[in-house]
Amino acid sequence: MITKETLIKFLDSRVKDFSKISDKIWEFAELQFKEEKSSELLSSFLANEDFTIEKNVAGIKTAFIGSYGSGNPVIGILGEFDALSNMSQKSGIACKGSLVDGAPGHGCGHNLLGTGSLAACIAIKEYLKETGMKGTIKFFGCPAEEGGAGKVFMVRSGCFEGVDVAMTWHPASQNIVWKDSSLANNQAYFNFKGISSHAAASPHLGRSALDAVELMNVGANYLREHIISDARLHYAVTNTGGTAPNIVQAEATVLYLMRAPQSNQVRDIYNRVCKIAQGAALMTGTKVEIEFNTGVSEFKPNIPLTGLLEKNLKRILPIDGYTNEDISLAKSITDTIPSIDTFLSRLEDKKLAEHIRETGICNGFIENITGLGSGSTDVGDVSWVVPTAQFTTSCAACGTPMHSWQFVAQGKSNLAHQGMLTAAKTMALSAFDILQNPQILKEIKESFENDLNGEKYICPIPPEISPKY
Ligand SMILES: [Zn+2]
Repeated sequence: MITKETLIKFLDSRVKDFSKISDKIWEFAELQFKEEKSSELLSSFLANEDFTIEKNVAGIKTAFIGSYGSGNPVIGILGEFDALSNMSQKSGIACKGSLVDGAPGHGCGHNLLGTGSLAACIAIKEYLKETGMKGTIKFFGCPAEEGGAGKVFMVRSGCFEGVDVAMTWHPASQNIVWKDSSLANNQAYFNFKGISSHAAASPHLGRSALDAVELMNVGANYLREHIISDARLHYAVTNTGGTAPNIVQAEATVLYLMRAPQSNQVRDIYNRVCKIAQGAALMTGTKVEIEFNTGVSEFKPNIPLTGLLEKNLKRILPIDGYTNEDISLAKSITDTIPSIDTFLSRLEDKKLAEHIRETGICNGFIENITGLGSGSTDVGDVSWVVPTAQFTTSCAACGTPMHSWQFVAQGKSNLAHQGMLTAAKTMALSAFDILQNPQILKEIKESFENDLNGEKYICPIPPEISPKY
């Protein structure tokens, strides 16, 4: 008979295999939509484990689905594997130093994310195989989380149809379940076209695209007063139209990122920003072309599924497999990041706070923390079409910021591998519960329908927009 203990032991016995894969993906460090080696490594590993592989899904070369088993329930586990630009960093040291100047690096730990999810799928496959139970496990190989919104394209093309639940996790510096939403966003380029002219001899013949960008930004800054206070507007001028002040700029581009708690709020703000752009074009006698870039929906955490992940994560914690080497790396990393004393003094679990102070490592569960900041994630779109839940595990010294050289430096450490293993175990045990007890899935689905309350998913990316390679 297979029990939860069997699954835990199985994953422990294969930690070396999984760590090797994660370390290789760390080394590949491939950017969004270019994760060819990482995607191939994960999919061929799954193929060797008897998973059926469907490549090129949603028309994306590096997106794939690995499936094992038959019938319902269909359990989906999401894996990411893209790196961040300019984040190259040597591993295992506590000072900034790139491996290759200007090269990408795994600043968000997606090497661990993809591999931990793969490990969970393999454990669940073992369970299905040994018991002969009905049920399907699917690994979703999701490219381009970092700005490419890979999952949104996968949702749009129907990859998640027929999936009963989706689980995922994220490497972090603490063990937390994700109970809050994330922000929905839209991103678009506003390309202004004017007429160039000599700025002193014939300025009256010129129409400045740069003036239009500046006026658009002024308009957007006035708009802030009249949108909900939880919304965020960010912009970057990506083309100033040149460096010569004596030429009227004939072209200029500004990239806008608009965020709000709900997709419908983002849609409203986006439409108003578009009108401001048209106003700026009218004022300057220029033309504006609006180029939608990308967008994601807000995350809707499925509460019963989140609770199931929490129960199983707590079963595995605390971790006590850290070596002196792990502690010494964690402590020296801690010296390079802002102090987390205020956070520790607020922790209810005083024993855990003490452990973190002594070792620099969060080895236990952090209760009652809401939110993981006000970022956005393309997991949000999956959560609109399938009941979804996610959590984080401790893969780096406590307090290590994401997208930092410190995160990259710890990406191949034993601490990172332990966090990845904890994530795999948590998802495998939760799938075990779902397969064993149909009542759990029933509650998850009821909660999903209640949360949607009849609202239909609207893909934030228009149908004519394809992935930006
Ligand atoms: Zn990430």
